[in-house]
Amino acid sequence: MQTIVLSWPAKARHKKIVPVFLPFAGCPARCLYCAQNLQTAEGGRPLQALLQEARTMLETRRLRGLEPAEVAFYGGTFTAQREEALTACLEAVHVWRREGLVQSFRCSTRPDALKDSVLARMKEAGCTCVELGIQSFDSSVLRASLRGYDGSVAREGIARVQASGFVLGVQLLPGLPGSTIQGFLQDVDCALDLGASFLRYYPCLVVRSTGLARLYEEGRYTPWSTEETLEALALGLMKAHARNVPVIRIGVAHEESFEQHVLAGPRDPDLGTRALARALLRTLQRHIPAPECLAGIHMPRSCQGYYLGHRKENRDALVRLGVHSGTICWTQDEEIRILVRSDM
Ligand code: SF4
Repeated sequence: MQTIVLSWPAKARHKKIVPVFLPFAGCPARCLYCAQNLQTAEGGRPLQALLQEARTMLETRRLRGLEPAEVAFYGGTFTAQREEALTACLEAVHVWRREGLVQSFRCSTRPDALKDSVLARMKEAGCTCVELGIQSFDSSVLRASLRGYDGSVAREGIARVQASGFVLGVQLLPGLPGSTIQGFLQDVDCALDLGASFLRYYPCLVVRSTGLARLYEEGRYTPWSTEETLEALALGLMKAHARNVPVIRIGVAHEESFEQHVLAGPRDPDLGTRALARALLRTLQRHIPAPECLAGIHMPRSCQGYYLGHRKENRDALVRLGVHSGTICWTQDEEIRILVRSDM
């Protein structure tokens, strides 16, 4: 009997996050596809109001006897905000930490906005994790998306975050103009080779009021189909899982207020679980030579909710592999163990 062991890291984060959305704060220009203001519905609210709201949430958690959360500044270029805004954020976190409301904070930013002096101040204020909106390492894709930097700057940004001792998260955006599934998979490899601790995949959507919407309406951009996207995401998940790196988010959160602005693209409220289900199926297909060889599978309990796929779309393919409730043993592990008979 041969046992094939495959890592399958849990998606869920263990620490509670209290997000502070700062749409476009510090952004040097507007990227072709970006509509942060529509995505977070926080556009135009004063920073002090957003910080106060976060503080109220943190205090409420404490009143309920919950553990201190982690604050996350998302939605803009945190490290390139104007000086007063950056100082206000860092001072707020400093006070919250002193009061025991938070232990640390994280932020998202761009790879070309990482001054050493700002990173040092963030470290001092309790930042432990920096998420880089890399989107792609392909310079032609970055250029077409008006990102304002090239692949070498994306790599340098990663090196700077790591040299400063932060946990590194990398956000990738499959489906940008000029990108291909193969290119996305190379981006995943690159992020993993450069040491990302976790990944997020945000498939490209066409959102009203963006430059991409204009290209789409002029017939100069075609978004990836849901099927292409699912296949790409599944292969991207398999690469990350093979290196034991979790993909902690797939696709933007489903919000009705945002949906009405999405003109086209792989929009599916179940995209994340469908991609995980597809990745699981592809993994089993890759490692089970024939149904008669399969002696059993130990699968993480976290897969239980999706292994059959959305509306059981994986069921027939699983049956053909010999996988069914009688062959699966659910475990608390973060790995899949496939027991294969070697005498067949
Ligand atoms: S993608 Fe990021 S850097 Fe570009 S405009 Fe949006 S928030 Fe700013």
